[in-house]
Amino acid sequence: MNTSLLLDSLNQAQREAVSAPLGPIRVLAGAGSGKTRVLVQRIAWLIDREGASPWSILAVTFTNKAAGEMRTRVEQLLDRPTRGLWIGTFHAIAHRLLRLHWQNAGLPQAFQILDADDQQRLVKKVIRALNLDEKKWPPRQACWFINAQKDEGLRPEHVDHRDDPVVVTWLRIYQHYQEACQRSGLVDFGELLLRAHELLRDTPSLLAHYRERFHHLLVDEFQDTNTIQYAFIRLLTGGRGDVFIVGDDDQSIYGWRGAKIENIQRFAEDFPGARTVRLERNYRSTHTILKAANAVIAHNAGRLGKNLWTDIGEGDSIQVYGAFNEYEEARFVAERIQTWSEGGGRRDEIAVLYRSNAQSRVLEETLLGMRIPYRVYGGLRFFERAEIKDALAYLRLLANRNDDASFERVVNTPTRGIGERTLEIVRELARELHLTLWQAAQQVVGRSLLPARAGNALHRFLLLIDQLDNAVQELPLAEQVDRVNESSGLIAHYQKEKGGKGEARVDNLNELVSAARGFESLSAEEREGLSPLATFLAHAALEAGEGQAQAWEDCVQLMTLHSAKGLEFPLVFMVGMEEGLFPHVMSAGEPGRLEEERRLAYVGITRAQQQLIISHAERRRLHGQDHYSRPSRFLGEIPEELIRDVRPRPRVERVVAASRPAAAPREMGGLRVGQGVLHSRFGEGVVIGFEGEGAHLRVQVNFAREGSKWLVAAYANLQPL
Ligand code: ATP
Ligand code: MG
Repeated sequence: MNTSLLLDSLNQAQREAVSAPLGPIRVLAGAGSGKTRVLVQRIAWLIDREGASPWSILAVTFTNKAAGEMRTRVEQLLDRPTRGLWIGTFHAIAHRLLRLHWQNAGLPQAFQILDADDQQRLVKKVIRALNLDEKKWPPRQACWFINAQKDEGLRPEHVDHRDDPVVVTWLRIYQHYQEACQRSGLVDFGELLLRAHELLRDTPSLLAHYRERFHHLLVDEFQDTNTIQYAFIRLLTGGRGDVFIVGDDDQSIYGWRGAKIENIQRFAEDFPGARTVRLERNYRSTHTILKAANAVIAHNAGRLGKNLWTDIGEGDSIQVYGAFNEYEEARFVAERIQTWSEGGGRRDEIAVLYRSNAQSRVLEETLLGMRIPYRVYGGLRFFERAEIKDALAYLRLLANRNDDASFERVVNTPTRGIGERTLEIVRELARELHLTLWQAAQQVVGRSLLPARAGNALHRFLLLIDQLDNAVQELPLAEQVDRVNESSGLIAHYQKEKGGKGEARVDNLNELVSAARGFESLSAEEREGLSPLATFLAHAALEAGEGQAQAWEDCVQLMTLHSAKGLEFPLVFMVGMEEGLFPHVMSAGEPGRLEEERRLAYVGITRAQQQLIISHAERRRLHGQDHYSRPSRFLGEIPEELIRDVRPRPRVERVVAASRPAAAPREMGGLRVGQGVLHSRFGEGVVIGFEGEGAHLRVQVNFAREGSKWLVAAYANLQPL
């Protein structure tokens, strides 16, 4: 695109933001008003009009995927590559700084990232080593505690415990966990941010360097920054300079993870002279969808407040479906997806949003059963599968022998006769002498502290890793991964596993080899001086949270409401809109958390461009328990006139009345429920329900061959049998 057109595609307020003079700028605006678009165009503007070097720009996004899209978009606008431009999540940027300056950060060069699952394992070990009762001090809760402190920028010695014995114990766990991480060269997600902040704060020369370098800082989704991220921004800019932040207080949904909605307000105080630009026109959704979103969020108190309008037109009503249970709900969703496809729509235009990850299983089963391709975005992610983590742990151990988490994971996977007793002895020695497990294992072998058999088994493991390391040194990355898969015995191990599972695991291990191939061709510059293996491992750890959803594949996108932030889809389903599930049962009693849930509802509704379909179930089995629930209060906050009830089809199982009672019509357009019909393409079937009327009348038919389908009565040409 010609940059003289940069401003042409924007409205007045957007133009003002993009072309504002350098200095602190805050864009405050509702969903779909073009905040992200403005941020991207601002980057192009800086380079093209302000003569900024890409090298002097740092842009922060919320997901790695968004970062990739943003870079592509800027390059399209400028029609040239943007080497030197840093775009990434806070975590990716922090990671990059730590990789570049590992010595100053007090880390080993080959430090590895610990994901949430690994973190919990390690914390559990620490709790055991401290002889604490896991029931009283659950590892999960300990992780929460530790992460919360790190998000606030606090080391154990900074936490004010007021001699509260409970806090003192959590702090002891934090302290020991931190020491274990340090010994092993492991860095968890919270640590990435905290460490990067400390790195700049405590190394004046580096701080000066980066302040000099990054003249322009831009942050998307600013409402979800936490204390340490905000501190990082302030540190880097020194409270002055060209800082461009965009955000929406109504979309702050990570308070439970430490995000500080107040940062939006603080910005104006901490950056004197900050300009505020408000965008009021929404380019995403129909008027109906926008009115629904505005009505729901209006129930929150203490908002910054804003107007949002659209001229896209009224659009379709919001459809609401009261299902009997989660299976019926899933079937309804699947049928609507089919209708969309039959109408010529693509599947990747559809998102199914839910509150909790556990809801995806039934949806997945149903979609699989009906052969509808889907992708779970942020579900069980490729890099989090057990076999993949096994292979990665071997690779990590090759890169860094002191990585205790990886050592523990693979020392006896596949089984090679290294039992729990052997490991206890190794751990004990490690604790006593402050060694890593690898070092301790070497001592145990060297000093013959084990019976011969056990000692040999351990010795063979140490040799295996050392020999593997030697053997793969000179190989291209993909071959390294392949060799590790084979020589570790993982492939043989999973081949023995019965049923389709083992086969799928072997496939995944081979897929890992392909994934690695993609990293071989990166130039040294793209790898920022890291080895291909280190780049690959960092990618695996940082990407793990984002799943593999690729828009180019024609798949329905399944995701939690949280991970839908910033995205948009022509057709959006919000499923499980029930009290107790959404709003979540934990938040119902707390006004602050209830408001956050409502913001989440606002985020969900505003993802929809053309059509929003909401469903709830009277009965749902979740986490092994049956729940009977009322429809969500958020549903009740949408004005009646925007809603069209899709009548549940008559079913024998329906024992409780639907929330919006209305008898389903049993006879329409000359057809009645239960009647046999013939369709020219689908063959014979039975009418099972209706919706709409007149020219919009749609009839649902259960076909013997094809299963159930919704057809427009006027075109279906059904012959009564
Ligand atoms: P969210 O709050 O959900 O992150 P946002 O404010 O970042 O939303 P964008 O995603 O930037 O909004 O924009 C929403 C949609 O509107 C996008 O498809 C974008 O391309 C489109 N859009 C924004 N501004 C304009 C414009 N001036 N003309 C045409 N389309 C626009
Ligand atoms: Mg956005």
